[in-house]
Amino acid sequence: MYRFQCHCKTVTIFVSHKPDSLTRCNCSLCQRYAAIWGYFKSEDVEIRAPKDSMDVYCWGDKCINFYRCKNCGCVTHYTLIPEAHLDRVSINFNMGDSKLINEIRIRHFEGSAM
Ligand SMILES: [Zn+2]
Repeated sequence: MYRFQCHCKTVTIFVSHKPDSLTRCNCSLCQRYAAIWGYFKSEDVEIRAPKDSMDVYCWGDKCINFYRCKNCGCVTHYTLIPEAHLDRVSINFNMGDSKLINEIRIRHFEGSAM
């Protein structure tokens, strides 16, 4: 079990396994968030956050909801809208143990080219 938490510990996320790779994306948003994403199926992710403790940011084609803690501002994860027909929850691995990031291969995705 791996645990991820925002800075103020309001939001905690658990996943059961390590992904094969992590993704760093250079699109206009991910570059600003400086996030390193690990992709999971929703059934493999448990998100513990009090009601109304998170804000959501959605931009562009409105397929992705980026969640951040209302209190400390950390971007913890994103989800895809149902219409995207892809079961994915992406966890920002910078919310976890830095040693874990070092153990996993990082892919560089050219999101800025899309
Ligand atoms: Zn927080």
